[in-house]
Amino acid sequence: MNKYELPELPYKYNALEPVISEAILRVHHDKHHGAYVNGANAALQKLEVARESGFKDTDIRAVERDLAFNVSGHILHALYWQNMGPKGGSTPGGKLADMINESFGSFEKFKGQLSNAAKQVEGSGWGLLVYEPILNRLLTLQIQNHQNLLAHGSVPLLCVDVWEHAYYLQYKNDRGSYVDQWWSIINWDDVEKRVVNAKK
Ligand code: MN
Repeated sequence: MNKYELPELPYKYNALEPVISEAILRVHHDKHHGAYVNGANAALQKLEVARESGFKDTDIRAVERDLAFNVSGHILHALYWQNMGPKGGSTPGGKLADMINESFGSFEKFKGQLSNAAKQVEGSGWGLLVYEPILNRLLTLQIQNHQNLLAHGSVPLLCVDVWEHAYYLQYKNDRGSYVDQWWSIINWDDVEKRVVNAKK
């Protein structure tokens, strides 16, 4: 069986300081992301066993829920690491800047929308920018946990993790400051590459 694997961080654990501390990145990547990878593989394994046993004694609701939660958690964390970098910040250019202007009016309006969505996630979740192919435009989404409030068929481009484990060691309960600081470490080249691929 093919298995999900925890990807290496594309930079050193201290590369995002002072915005995100080395202590946070170590536990967030190795332990939290690692747990979602393990959970996704465990759910796949349970389904393989269940198929062999004709789904007797299988709580399929629980397993499917675990699968959606952990696979979504793995995908969003892998995106989150790639979306950030030590040389991040400034503002997007090229095709991404054009799409942001068309979809939201201006970069500042987009920043306000994604920041407000992320800061006001109820409980644990994510602020997410996606490409929506039907209208050929960008949308923001306010994801709960890792898998709820999705728009199907949309392609994730940029995400900010607002689970407490992403910021609490450093920012305590001040999610707002963490989100505000996060804008200075975004790798816009990565985000633009994703929107160009999504439109193909
Ligand atoms: Mn996380």
